[in-house]
Amino acid sequence: MIQIKDIDVKNTYPFNTVFQAELLAIQEACLWASKTNQQIKVWSDSESSLHSIASIDTKSPIAQQTQEILLKSTNIKLGWIKAHVGYSANEAADVLAKKATQEGIPTFIPAPRNHIKNLLQKESIIRWQKEWDNGETDRSVHNVLPKVKTTPTPWQRPEIMFVTGHGSFPTYLKRFNIRSSDSCGCGKLGNPLDYATSCLFTTSYHLTKPSADLEPLWWKRVMNNNNSRAKIKKLMHFIAENETLFQKMATTTSHRPNFPMYSYSLFFHTQGTTLSNSTTQRSERLNFKKYYILLF
Ligand SMILES: [Zn+2]
Repeated sequence: MIQIKDIDVKNTYPFNTVFQAELLAIQEACLWASKTNQQIKVWSDSESSLHSIASIDTKSPIAQQTQEILLKSTNIKLGWIKAHVGYSANEAADVLAKKATQEGIPTFIPAPRNHIKNLLQKESIIRWQKEWDNGETDRSVHNVLPKVKTTPTPWQRPEIMFVTGHGSFPTYLKRFNIRSSDSCGCGKLGNPLDYATSCLFTTSYHLTKPSADLEPLWWKRVMNNNNSRAKIKKLMHFIAENETLFQKMATTTSHRPNFPMYSYSLFFHTQGTTLSNSTTQRSERLNFKKYYILLF
């Protein structure tokens, strides 16, 4: 009879597990037993190791090797024994295991899969963070979300469009030559910040306008505040619903960009049907939708 007890691996190989050590001990015992002709019973108090050896789809290489030994040797039986209840052989194995941690020859066990997985995950997060910090695009998002993480932000599409500026904004559409001007019908710049703080058409959705030097802080606060985000969602909804208004207005009024009253009159005009079916407007809308699908 061979009694197997825990092997202290923690100090020598901090990444190895007690499970691995238990399995290795069983494997060594089976290897020894396979070289004799006697009937051998191997008792272990490690239930998880025994389960792993009995399992046909075990992932542990040590368990798999042990299975091979057992398949070739009919003289070995494995069994479970309760630990720390006074079996003399169990106690003796305890003493031997402790002695082995001081005098034994260290055995190399490859690091477990989980350990490698964790290492790789940590390393990839470090590299990802470096790329995010040193990147050149989406700096507005970097300002709000400086730390990378694998869990998604609780933002919905409108908020993502708002913070990235990738959406139905004149500044964005001009980049793709869908619009000739980057200003809104009200004469100001057609970008998210202006829509949220100063555009004349979106007054009901306004948040307090920050001074230029506090702009980064403003973004951080707004995007991390539930009330502000709810307002932004409504604003984005309004912009999307009145897409034609914002688009058409700017083209029509491009020759007189700083005349809001004129824009207002057009605002009401476009609410009717007079302008809403013009060919240019439709193709503009189609173009926009095309980009919209490409980018989201
Ligand atoms: Zn405007």
